[in-house]
Amino acid sequence: MVYLFFFLSSSAFAWDVHQSLMPWVVRGLPGSIQKELSSLPVVPSAQNETQNLIRELQLNPAIQFQPLAVRNVKDILVSGAVDEPDHGMDLNLDKSADPNNDRKYTGGGRGVDGQGFRHLYFAGWKLSHPVSTFQIPARSVGLAPGRAEVIAQKARLLILGGNNIWGFRVLEWAMHYIQDLSQPYHSVQVPNLFMLPFSALLTWPTSEGFDHLIKESTRTVSNYHHAYELYTLAQILKGDHSPFAECMLHAEKYSGLKFSPSQGTPKDLALEVAENSRELASQVGSLSVDFFGTEIKNPEHDLAVKKGDLNYQELAENPALKTPRDALHAVTCKALANGVSASRKLIEWALVKPQQESVVSSK
Ligand SMILES: [Zn+2]
Ligand SMILES: [Zn+2]
Repeated sequence: MVYLFFFLSSSAFAWDVHQSLMPWVVRGLPGSIQKELSSLPVVPSAQNETQNLIRELQLNPAIQFQPLAVRNVKDILVSGAVDEPDHGMDLNLDKSADPNNDRKYTGGGRGVDGQGFRHLYFAGWKLSHPVSTFQIPARSVGLAPGRAEVIAQKARLLILGGNNIWGFRVLEWAMHYIQDLSQPYHSVQVPNLFMLPFSALLTWPTSEGFDHLIKESTRTVSNYHHAYELYTLAQILKGDHSPFAECMLHAEKYSGLKFSPSQGTPKDLALEVAENSRELASQVGSLSVDFFGTEIKNPEHDLAVKKGDLNYQELAENPALKTPRDALHAVTCKALANGVSASRKLIEWALVKPQQESVVSSK
């Protein structure tokens, strides 16, 4: 049974378009932070940082970043830079970027699936929660928390050096990984066992059947993952009429994050978000099956490659689905609040002045 889940991947893009969260992140920032952000100068640097960033952050050597044309830091925050980690910087990486060989379990090393290992974190199988933490391998998989740390530290150095345009742009890359982790499908490999293709299980005993099962399991879990993200995105895009408007605006009320920007590191924040997501994952998983139904397990659906589609408007409005929809919205509210609140905390972290000891030790 253990081997069945060997190659289940989770390489799709959390919340599909991260940019849609950013206006909510900015709107709910504390007034003092808003004020500080508007006082920061944005002077376009003559230097394009791309080559430095490729080298220091171990990015795809072929990636290119054009300078942003912005007037202030808030413009940078809503510019879409938060989505740049999904646009190729984590593709075609050297073996040394993947020391634990995580790509083996997250969709392979090539093509668009090749970036997944940096965008998720499965904390590891726990004996105390054998079903909800079930994963292969039992060790932790995915580098998202470590990536958030390395990238956020670089961002803070740029900001301290007065390079606010690149500094906040890079900070948003770090934010991207933390937002990814707030999506429960990025924190647990198999959120619900009913997502697996039971018909393929019957063919398992033959070796051909085994390969078929792995492929089918990857496809079916990924279908729920995509359906959930696309449905949630469609609701977020309703703006002030979104069922999640209140959760995103007053995220701190709905999120349980305890992280303190003046004491913790971005990696602490990322790990706390992942743990919060893990706690929501089995609920999100079983409600996804209730709400989206089991048709998307059928072979004509492979949402990752835009094969098959769901009627998201009908899902949002059909009176017959009210019960699972309300329940799914309630748990999604918490997940989105974690993502938005963590994003605000990361901005606050970047603005904390370096502590006395680090100033002394750098002299
Ligand atoms: Zn995703
Ligand atoms: Zn991502």
